[in-house]
Amino acid sequence: MTTAQPRHLLDGSHRRMFIGGAWVEAASGQTMETRNPATGVVIATVPRAGKKDIERAVAAARNAFDGPWSRFKPHERQKLLLRVAELFERHWEEICVSDTTDMGLPIARARGNANRVLGMLRYYAGMATALHGQTIDNSLAGDIVSYTRKEPIGVVGAIIPWNAPTAASVWKIGPALATGCTVVLKPSEEAPLTPLLIAELMAEAGVPDGVVNIVTGTGTEAGAPLAEHMGVDKIVFTGSTATGQSIVRASAGNLKRVSLELGGKSPVIVCTDADLERAVPVAAMSVFANSGQICIAGSRLFVARQIHDEFVARLAAYATGLRIGNGIDPETEIGPLISLRQLQRVEGFLRAGSEEGARLVVGGTRLSQGALAAGNFVAPTVFAGVSDTMRIAREEIFGPVISALPFDTLDEVVRRANDTPYGLAAGVFTRDLATAHQLSRRLQAGSVWVNTYHAIDPAVPFGGYKMSGYGREGGTDHLDEYLNTKGVFIRID
Ligand code: NAD
Repeated sequence: MTTAQPRHLLDGSHRRMFIGGAWVEAASGQTMETRNPATGVVIATVPRAGKKDIERAVAAARNAFDGPWSRFKPHERQKLLLRVAELFERHWEEICVSDTTDMGLPIARARGNANRVLGMLRYYAGMATALHGQTIDNSLAGDIVSYTRKEPIGVVGAIIPWNAPTAASVWKIGPALATGCTVVLKPSEEAPLTPLLIAELMAEAGVPDGVVNIVTGTGTEAGAPLAEHMGVDKIVFTGSTATGQSIVRASAGNLKRVSLELGGKSPVIVCTDADLERAVPVAAMSVFANSGQICIAGSRLFVARQIHDEFVARLAAYATGLRIGNGIDPETEIGPLISLRQLQRVEGFLRAGSEEGARLVVGGTRLSQGALAAGNFVAPTVFAGVSDTMRIAREEIFGPVISALPFDTLDEVVRRANDTPYGLAAGVFTRDLATAHQLSRRLQAGSVWVNTYHAIDPAVPFGGYKMSGYGREGGTDHLDEYLNTKGVFIRID
């Protein structure tokens, strides 16, 4: 029985989760709250799912995979994705308000993501009709024609963090719809609301029942059973490295495929010849945007010694000028952190920075004047005099904190930049083409940006080296993550 979903009001009312085309409660009847991080106010309650709900969602996804969805032709999946994109465009403002209210992203930034998210959906729509195998001449096996087929892998479990609910949901669901897989998506317990709105839009677009299921719950109660489930063929995960490791362990039961987009401690290198007018705001916002809750945050800022002091002074001036507040105000540039727990974690790093001898240039405190007192606000922070061994230079903070580190030579900075367990992203600012190419080649990171940052494109693979994960999102590699390759041999003599 399909129960109607109450409207997406963000006023404290209850929302249901989406399984097999129906809006349902958790089997246990339990619920959990989600709050606006700018005000502390409860904006909705959602089901607190457990193992039984995961069982139900995986069964629905399997039925859909084996049922009519398997007979959808590529051009039909393409049309469906284009309809989803159209509905996203029509409801974009509602999506933005939902993200801003549930996780604090400034609405101006949310609105600015339209191109990227709609571009993703349209890219997957294009790819739906571009998936193909190869014909291969046999070298040994006699008179045999052989070819490969690309087949959908099956039921995909998707687990996402709080920091970009819309983009993360689309990055997981889009390729599933393009390839013919089905999905059980578990949003973060900190920001579950936009994925539920997305499920409404998917249903309205005509995505068949059971193809997309959204199960709200915590990591241990709902995420872990999904990662372990023997009926799930693949897990796509975005989140912390520690959780990624536990997902790999959980995947061993049925040797399900896993792709992981994990944490980072990305270096940004500013060379002596950099265009500082451009480099200062880009380097600053590489961390401060989304209050530092960005996996690719360029939180280790290596600046050539000759320009270090000037750069740090300009960075501090820029940080001081940023407008901080409730993201629903279109003027706001920096919103709150997601939760009190995350705020306390970031404050711990601020203390560690000072205790370990870094020089606090700007920020460094919680903001609690006036209306900010109700939310989880931290001032954009710059530490200078940071050494490579300090905690603020080694650990992912996931808050608005930049560590500035001077360097003298390119060989030295490459060695220091690569001296991290992570390898998600890197930035370089230089006007010299040879330096740009040399550093892009030598930096151990899945994405390197030169004279820019954050440039993510649906057609370009994104993902990690080392402990930042494996597998790629974006580009044709992304679709391959959702496909099996079958070899077919036909004897013709
Ligand atoms: P997290 O790992 O705590 O949680 C991510 C998701 O995993 C949540 O939905 C959570 O409920 C679930 N989860 C937690 N424990 C689980 C378990 N044992 N089994 C299965 N699922 C479980 O991460 P977070 O704190 O929500 O997000 C921040 C982290 O995400 C940072 O480390 C950040 O770098 C990373 N991140 C990476 C990317 C990327 O593309 N590489 C993008 C965004 C965020």
